Amino acid sequence: MNNTMLCDKRALVCGAGGFIGHHLVSRLKREGYWVRGIDLKKPFSETEADHFIIGDLRDQVVCRAAMQTYDEVYQLAAEMGGAEYVFTGENDADIMHNSAIINLNILNECRRNHIEKVFFSSSVCMYPINHGYQDCNEDSAYPANPDSEYGWEKIFSERLYLAFRRNYGIQTYIARFQNTYGPSSAWKGIRAKAPAALCRKIAMAADDGEIEVLGDGKQQRSYIYIDDVIEGILRLVRSDFSGPVNIGTEEVVTVDQMVDIIADIAGKKIRKKYVPGPVGAHNRGTTNELIRKKLQWAPISPLKFGLKKTYEWVAQQVRM
Ligand code: NAD
Repeated sequence: MNNTMLCDKRALVCGAGGFIGHHLVSRLKREGYWVRGIDLKKPFSETEADHFIIGDLRDQVVCRAAMQTYDEVYQLAAEMGGAEYVFTGENDADIMHNSAIINLNILNECRRNHIEKVFFSSSVCMYPINHGYQDCNEDSAYPANPDSEYGWEKIFSERLYLAFRRNYGIQTYIARFQNTYGPSSAWKGIRAKAPAALCRKIAMAADDGEIEVLGDGKQQRSYIYIDDVIEGILRLVRSDFSGPVNIGTEEVVTVDQMVDIIADIAGKKIRKKYVPGPVGAHNRGTTNELIRKKLQWAPISPLKFGLKKTYEWVAQQVRM
């Protein structure tokens, strides 16, 4: 896709202070959009948005004030975090209530303002929990049985966006992201996801040091690099296909293998100490058949490439 193309479009990015929203703002700016961002907080790095509102999208008045005439609205605001946030059960009420109310408010304002195109960020966590290795294709979502309230909220909101498309003619687009990683993501605390958290632990460890790994290290996962997620979002919104569609890779690794890759990038020998803790689904991957068929594209960045970029950024944060 041509990144230097200029346009006169206007976009609203909800969750622009977060990891994916921040990168999306930068990409839209490179393409010549006028962009407004809204979030409870500013991103880790300077935002490129033309206008940034610090505001709470659970508040209908704030949501109404932010919503004007836009060509495209991107909805990435959510209660979100790593396994220690999503899988302990301690944050379930916030995860369900806050994300659902954000989606209800945003869609209603989009309808009132006759917004044509609205993108919604769902997750592969909406797929049913299974006990063997699972290659999830889009049709395997039902009968629904996700392993977290985070997944159930995504199911509710997917259906909400589909209903607004059906009843109000809004062109809604839905993508189910895999675990997304890259620079400028949460890298410490319970909001950090596995790739950034492991990068931090390894950056802080001495050569021949030890790091704690949640679970037994054997969980299989696939991870997608941030640039591929952004490319996938834009290709979807510019296509005549509305999803839901997986945006992920078919490269599968165990947590042990990911630790070894990061240790290699860091040039350190790292020993693993397995500790019990929340880990989420044991073995989950997704297929790219549908995205290839509908968008003639699939994510391309190899894990080693993306982890190198992520490690460099996290190591810099650790040094600061
Ligand atoms: P993130 O936590 O970095 O960004 C979400 C942003 O939403 C945060 O900056 C947060 O402050 C903001 N937010 C939360 N509540 C808000 C409120 N009431 N008002 C305004 N802003 C609010 O998460 P992310 O990784 O950028 O994820 C973006 C979207 O993609 C989310 O919908 C998430 O569920 C989805 N997703 C992410 C991943 C991933 O691995 N990162 C995977 C699958 C799906």
